[in-house]
Amino acid sequence: MKYVLVSGGVISGNVSSIKVDPYLNVDAGTMNPKEHGEVFVLDDGGEVDLDLGNYERYLNITLTRENNITTGKIYQQVIERERRGDYLGKTVQVVPHITDAIEEWITRVARIPVDDTGEEPDVCIIELGGTVGDIESSPFVEAMTQLRRRAGKHNFLQIHVSYVPVINGEQKTKPTQQAVKAVRSAGLIPDLIACRCEVNLDKGAVEKIAHFCQVEVESVIVVRDMPTVYQVPMLLEQQGLIPLLQDILSLDRLALSPAVVAKGSATWNQWKRLTAPEDHFFATVNIALVGKYIELHDAYLSVTKSLEHSAMRCRRKLNIIWIDAEHLEHSYQTEDPAKYHQAWHQLCTANGILVPGGFGHRATEGMILAAKWARENRTPYLGICLGMQIAVIEFARNVCGIEGASSEEFNAANSERLIMFMPEVDKKTMGATMRLGKRPTLFQPGSEWSKLRALYAEKPEILERHRHRYEVNPAYIERLQQGGLSFVGKDDKGERMEIIELKDHPWFVGVQFHPEYLSRVLNPSKPYLGFMAASAGLLDQITADVLKESKGLAVNGANGVNGVNGEGAGF
Ligand code: GLN
Repeated sequence: MKYVLVSGGVISGNVSSIKVDPYLNVDAGTMNPKEHGEVFVLDDGGEVDLDLGNYERYLNITLTRENNITTGKIYQQVIERERRGDYLGKTVQVVPHITDAIEEWITRVARIPVDDTGEEPDVCIIELGGTVGDIESSPFVEAMTQLRRRAGKHNFLQIHVSYVPVINGEQKTKPTQQAVKAVRSAGLIPDLIACRCEVNLDKGAVEKIAHFCQVEVESVIVVRDMPTVYQVPMLLEQQGLIPLLQDILSLDRLALSPAVVAKGSATWNQWKRLTAPEDHFFATVNIALVGKYIELHDAYLSVTKSLEHSAMRCRRKLNIIWIDAEHLEHSYQTEDPAKYHQAWHQLCTANGILVPGGFGHRATEGMILAAKWARENRTPYLGICLGMQIAVIEFARNVCGIEGASSEEFNAANSERLIMFMPEVDKKTMGATMRLGKRPTLFQPGSEWSKLRALYAEKPEILERHRHRYEVNPAYIERLQQGGLSFVGKDDKGERMEIIELKDHPWFVGVQFHPEYLSRVLNPSKPYLGFMAASAGLLDQITADVLKESKGLAVNGANGVNGVNGEGAGF
């Protein structure tokens, strides 16, 4: 096994990855998205740090909950062992017991297959969260020095990521020098220094960093800001990162089959074509994201990534308009009229309206108003999890005339509980008790007209990831259906409502699952793709392309969107 350790200092072919988060929480499930960003959900239902989403998307792999190590998980394991008497009366200490447990965990999890080949990975990227020098991360740093020794020569490489600020036009290398000094005094030896910076670094600055950090000039990688993050792999390639990795890790000794190599270069070519600078897209799609944690855009990271993937596929420039759902509520008309009118102006002029997931009562009345606008004005709408529940409540109130329609989550005493607590959910414990992870959804008989179903290439059954406590109350389904709301997808027992859709609308779809967790750059999530295409006026064309592709037929144009160039919207 080859290890690549990525540490941070100033700011925080068959490859697996492990993220280390030195906090005491066992997992990210109970953490506030406004502080920590999105909680990412894996196939196995693990609620993990959002960086695992980045790894899954970039490496096109499927990780497990064990790929996210936290201080909480490690201590829980060591304390359980101590209680069982596994340490045979010894004093249990941070070194060696905690550090050994960390090393053991990493070497075990690195070997778990991450793709459908079922093969053991050859390389594992370990991202050390936090900053070297923190009290919290010190056991992990110590464990890494141990792992480096045990892995042996050519099997361990450390990349230290640093930041080079530009102050009054001067590129400041001091913070990087200090950071690398701290890393070295902790016993780690960076092989490569990756410098984040806004501009390209001067030769002088690079030489200074190489000199003070005791690495070759070629080992200083400049990661300057790019128009989109998707161009960063090309930037790294241009700087010779691949031969450097091959050399330090002796990657040529790995026996890769010709099929794997061919697949790799095909992906690379496809990637380069798809992620060509966005500046070449002329037409913009304005998507209103109506949420409740919008102060921190990272709270919706996978949602924004899925929109980006879909926009690239439609060859349109994406403009996300962040709307605080609370600002749409009637009370804001007097409380803060400027915010109220601005929010409504933004909502009314958007090409598409998305209401993402969320928890709690706050801001939900604003979301309901946004769904009503989208339904009545035939603006494409996508409701994710809470966003689907919102659409159901709106429909019940304004179409079916169920005035007091609400959710048990918003008002436990409400008599018209359109959305109710799922019976099997534990009401007392918060951590890891929701309906979580990958589960099947079956398209229902009679839903052949569904626009979303067509995009899933007419598959009768799909698998998507879930994270919720509430669901549509079965007692109301008949009334909703009579009003014209279709439940086109249900779970495998037919008990849970998974997909809603309005037939006579350009695109009005709500999903109880979170399709954003499975979106990939080269394979955008279908509900997002359909929503984006509808917002861009391209739904028929994209649907036809997806169907063709699913039958193995080639599609014209760089990425399967033919004819777009002819409309003047492409290159
Ligand atoms: N709060 C809602 C529920 O638990 C929606 C959850 C979500 O959007 N992730 O069902």
